[in-house]
Amino acid sequence: MRKSQEENNILIDIDKKGKIRDWRGKKMSSLSLAKIYKRISDKIKPEYERRGVHKRYKKVERKIKNEAGEITGIIIDNEPMGLYDKDGKRVVNYEKRAENMRFCGSFLKFIKADTLKLISANFCRVPLCPMCQWRKAMRVFFDTSKIMRVVEERYKNYVPVFLTLTVRNCSVEDLSNNLDNIFSAWDAFMHSKTLRPEVKGERKQIIKGWFRALEIEYDADEIITQARYNRAKEHYDRNNIKVGDKNLNYNTFHPHFHSIMLVDKNYFKGKDYMRTEEWVKLWRHSAKLDYDPVCHIQRTRTTKGRREEVAEVAKYTYKDAEILNKKLSDDKKDEIVKSLSSAIHGRRIYAYGGVMKEIAAELKIKDADKADLVKVNDYEINSALAKMILIYRWNMGVSNYALSKKIELAEKEDSIV
Ligand SMILES: [Zn+2]
Repeated sequence: MRKSQEENNILIDIDKKGKIRDWRGKKMSSLSLAKIYKRISDKIKPEYERRGVHKRYKKVERKIKNEAGEITGIIIDNEPMGLYDKDGKRVVNYEKRAENMRFCGSFLKFIKADTLKLISANFCRVPLCPMCQWRKAMRVFFDTSKIMRVVEERYKNYVPVFLTLTVRNCSVEDLSNNLDNIFSAWDAFMHSKTLRPEVKGERKQIIKGWFRALEIEYDADEIITQARYNRAKEHYDRNNIKVGDKNLNYNTFHPHFHSIMLVDKNYFKGKDYMRTEEWVKLWRHSAKLDYDPVCHIQRTRTTKGRREEVAEVAKYTYKDAEILNKKLSDDKKDEIVKSLSSAIHGRRIYAYGGVMKEIAAELKIKDADKADLVKVNDYEINSALAKMILIYRWNMGVSNYALSKKIELAEKEDSIV
């Protein structure tokens, strides 16, 4: 299979562990999502008209310079800022996003050394784009590992714990309100007196540093499947729910935070130590819930060299397969994507705090939304090994990446001489 693909000039990119990087799969998912965005943009037209949605521009000055670099004039330009409704609220431009996503990663330029290293690509950066999400998760994983490396060197007494904070599932229409609530709950949580007790007139920080990532799951199972039952047998038995029963969470979202918290190692022995029930109580209070939410707290076995395990928290915001690959009607898919898309609009999906934020600033780590998605790790290209540059383009006909150009590096050098 691999051999014939190579002969046909189809892209095969293999990672360090020998696993094929699924460029094709991601590209196909982005194309499917682009179709959904296009349908939403058609459906939403009457609503946008009613809301007086219009394009906004801002005036920008551009300097005209002559060859000597002297300013010879100024042009006032109108730069598009996006779509706004008549109340001044920014809205999602589904049409533009569909168009951008359709071309996402249609061009990939690699340098071939021992393996392929991506050196250039056109990523669309649409927040839900499966291709971009994949790159972003790698980027955040890498950045967080790098921060943890500094933490280990600098703060030998700090220990990471994993904390997952959830709320009950919500309806598709209610996602945005639920996100408003859990984002403000996070702030209330981190600023609570429990985590910042007063000691001798000063506020003590129990959490020395943190990282958090938002994840939103969608439940597409109409009935309790065997696989689902096996995953949470105890829960279903306790509630007398059997395989084949109606799934009460069908067509709901499950937004939650995954986080890494750094605490001093004495925390586990001291009076500040909190059991799971206490974390539940604090999260319940912060999120103003009238029930006990599910929270998981887990001390990591992280010793030196295991920081990668910690960075695993950098999950995808949502699993595109939960929506794209399921047997859902087009209308249902559109409804889910529209809700997800407008609910996460303008939110910070990944964030750092405390010493992790300080280290991120020192290392000049950018927000995942702005970070480079081409180079997602610290690779060095060994020029002695770099044999050629390969350019692949997405080929609609074969639904795969086909080689479009090959530049032999040695030959290139010869030609310069
Ligand atoms: Zn993209």
